[in-house]
Amino acid sequence: MENLPILEPYRIKVVEPVRQSTVEERRGLIAEAGYNPFLLRSEDVFIDLLTDSGTGAMSQRQWGAVMDGDEAYAGSRSFYRLKEAVEEVLGFPCVIPTHQGRAAEHVLFTSMLKAGDLVPNNMHFDTTKAHVQHRGAETVDLLCPEGYEAASAHPFKGNMDTAALDRLLTERGKRVPLVMVTVTCNSGGGQPVSLENLTEVRRICDRHSKPLFLDAARFAENAFFIQRRERPDLSVPEVVRQMMSLADGITMSAKKDALVNIGGMIALRDEALYRECSNWAILFEGFPTYGGLAGRDLDAMAQGLREVVDVGYLAHRLGQVAYLADRLREAGVPIVEPPGGHAVYLDARRFLPNVPQDQFPAWALSVELYIKGGIRTVEIGTVLSGRNPATGEHDYARLELLRLAVPRRTYTQSHLDWVAKSVIDVYRRRDEVRGVRFTYEPPVLRHFTARFEPLA
Ligand SMILES: *Cc1c(COP(=O)(O)O)cnc(C)c1O
Repeated sequence: MENLPILEPYRIKVVEPVRQSTVEERRGLIAEAGYNPFLLRSEDVFIDLLTDSGTGAMSQRQWGAVMDGDEAYAGSRSFYRLKEAVEEVLGFPCVIPTHQGRAAEHVLFTSMLKAGDLVPNNMHFDTTKAHVQHRGAETVDLLCPEGYEAASAHPFKGNMDTAALDRLLTERGKRVPLVMVTVTCNSGGGQPVSLENLTEVRRICDRHSKPLFLDAARFAENAFFIQRRERPDLSVPEVVRQMMSLADGITMSAKKDALVNIGGMIALRDEALYRECSNWAILFEGFPTYGGLAGRDLDAMAQGLREVVDVGYLAHRLGQVAYLADRLREAGVPIVEPPGGHAVYLDARRFLPNVPQDQFPAWALSVELYIKGGIRTVEIGTVLSGRNPATGEHDYARLELLRLAVPRRTYTQSHLDWVAKSVIDVYRRRDEVRGVRFTYEPPVLRHFTARFEPLA
């Protein structure tokens, strides 16, 4: 994004050593791991860009809050401090903590969905989709057309196609118990949703008498994009309050914008729905004042929610992602534009035009980047897509992407320079990079445990 500061707005008080291995060592380590970065030990990774989920650093105030945790089974002070933070930052009077974001989905969808229902979303995240389907309901992704164009520079590629939503609710509205919008749109590359779009979605929901829920894992990053690109007249906390005021409730993975390593929640306005969800939460998660977490986790979340809407933090956070994208773009490396909030995506088909899709170019690139720089990344391409159950053929992905997800407050600018240098070095000798083939292919979720060999 436009000229964001990349100077770290913090200094370091606790350090976690990381080890730089040699290229030769890494060749051996990745071979032992079956050329699958998921099977590496984290201690053999120098810079881990596998995910931004639960991998960030907590602040001194969060660690202080951990010590304040009240571990009472019921009615703990920590719960009430979380409730206050949710009310203050997000404006919801009711909150149910859960152990992760997917657990919040489990509880909310058990309360609200039944077999045969339809759930529209700008784009469902994997766990959200799986939980909708687990209830016997169907998902519909209604992302705006620009969201599917890797080259489109639209500032809000996470927007929902509101005409399509209106049509769906007019034609099949009886089957739709709720509408969801994911902010930022994770599966679409961390792209933001505009306040104007959210407002229009709300208007359509009102016209059809449907509740609106946000999948709010990265609500603060989304609010920062709105503040920068759409509503400079508002502060980030004001944007957050406006976004939330449009929704009936949220599910949230606290491992992203609550700046903690584990946790999630449901936040709601409606008392009756809160009571219904509380009953399921007791069954799946625990008593509704702890919900599968320790009291200390709730205190860390409460503090994280207050810190994440700080504009200095967000400018640096989004600035790091934009900085990495700028370095790569300058060197001609093909990336998905514009970069989203939490990651830079390399376009592997343009990066490695000589590697055909059935030799998994993005996967091959992830192996090469590990060998070159000790950097762990994740393929979002055909290995991840799996096989079509009907034909048994690879379900070829529309885009072969390699995701470089940036953990929050974890790496410095010199780490990002190392990442950029390593990617650029691989790009300069891209003609030498070969594809891979399976030596072991598990039947489901093959990317996690598959093994490969490099092609000669
Ligand atoms: C991470 C994430 C989830 C699931 O949360 P977990 O904490 O991993 O269970 C749901 N939706 C979105 C948009 C996410 O990014």
